[in-house]
Amino acid sequence: MTLTETPATACELSPEEQSIVEVVRDFVDREVKPVVRDLEHSNTYPEELIEQMKRLGIFGLAIPEPYGDVHVSTPCYALVTEELARGWMSLAGAMGGHTVVAKLLLAFGTEEQRQKYLPRMATGALRATMALTEPRGGSDLAHLSTSAVRDGDDWVINGEKTWITNARRSDLIALLCRTDSTAMPPHTGISILLTDKGPGLTIGKDLPKLGYKGVESCELFLDNCRVPADAVLGGAPGHGFAQMMKGLEVGRIQVAARATGVAKAAFDDALAYAQQRESFGKPIWQHQSVGNLLADMGTQYSAAHQLLLYAARTLDSGRRCDLEAGMAKLFASEAAMEIAVNAIRVHGGYGYSTEFDVERYFRDAPLMIVGEGTNEIQRNVIARQLVARGGL
Ligand SMILES: Cc1cc2nc3c(=O)[nH]c(=O)nc-3n(C[C@H](O)[C@H](O)[C@H](O)COP(=O)(O)OP(=O)(O)OC[C@H]3O[C@@H](n4cnc5c(N)ncnc54)[C@H](O)[C@@H]3O)c2cc1C
Repeated sequence: MTLTETPATACELSPEEQSIVEVVRDFVDREVKPVVRDLEHSNTYPEELIEQMKRLGIFGLAIPEPYGDVHVSTPCYALVTEELARGWMSLAGAMGGHTVVAKLLLAFGTEEQRQKYLPRMATGALRATMALTEPRGGSDLAHLSTSAVRDGDDWVINGEKTWITNARRSDLIALLCRTDSTAMPPHTGISILLTDKGPGLTIGKDLPKLGYKGVESCELFLDNCRVPADAVLGGAPGHGFAQMMKGLEVGRIQVAARATGVAKAAFDDALAYAQQRESFGKPIWQHQSVGNLLADMGTQYSAAHQLLLYAARTLDSGRRCDLEAGMAKLFASEAAMEIAVNAIRVHGGYGYSTEFDVERYFRDAPLMIVGEGTNEIQRNVIARQLVARGGL
């Protein structure tokens, strides 16, 4: 039994779900681990691995019948995400926004919108991403400036988005924009427009990044881009902010799972290395300083993993889970940062070598403290909810 196969994990998944996680674990060990370093350092889009993920049904994990056929619980979805990130965080990122858009369509979409998008999204034939962040800010979404104005049977969209991951390879963009400039408070004038690629929508350059290589994060320009009136998620404008906040609950669980995946990979590599490497006549783990690092890393990972599963269970219970998802994302991403830097310590000079994987974990971990709402924003959400709920 490994750290990811704790009894708590095993008992909450059905046998089918356990086998899905095992298949993905096997895929990561056999197909991803041997090629990841080359793909990472050449910043190559992992075409073949993504195709395999489609065949494994990974893009449809959040999509139930009648639209898809491998729908799983959120704990299972989180564990699959963790496994992918254990192999390469970029692979988990390639399906993250896609899943949030699927959840948004399921929760708020009209039947026509679900029928139009979900069956193709379930197979990965159609990929989706979400566009929230703008050059002037990603935290203060209530004051975003991309706007859509009604013109006959269309919305005409103008504005600019940035950091939109998978933008080049997604044909559906869940675009957060202002559809009523006079609404008060301002967030009540925001809608999600289900935007298909077409005239007026341009993908800008791939933004250069510290890590998260292989998948593209791009600028997006909207210049009199027209979408039909029925592109508003759910049909009625003005609900986009609240809809997106709900969608971000699963988004933050996904980011927490990416963090635990990176943390697990860093911990595993450090544990193995500490038993092989010797100094002063013994394996380095037997030096108390190194043993203590491993003890702390294992403890932090296990706590993050349990908090992740707790948030995932809360989401499935149907209860509001912004507090739980925020805690999981906050704790897991900070733990991943610490575990990644400690994995470098354990590896000594080799930890700084690009011929070892630990340097990648160290570059990938910081994304999770920023993405899907920074950790400062998570703390704001958590504090507000602690007060609103009268404590824990
Ligand atoms: C690789 C990558 C991929 C991404 N992919 C996507 C994507 O697919 N779609 C998408 O929409 N976005 C994406 N993002 C954007 C990401 O969600 C934003 O970067 C993030 O939400 C922060 O927004 P910002 O960068 O504008 O920072 P800002 O909002 O400018 O914040 C700057 C700093 O101020 C702090 N701050 C701001 N307001 C507060 C406050 N009220 N209280 C306390 N502190 C505050 C922040 O925590 C941060 O430290 C991606 C980002 C990266 C780096």
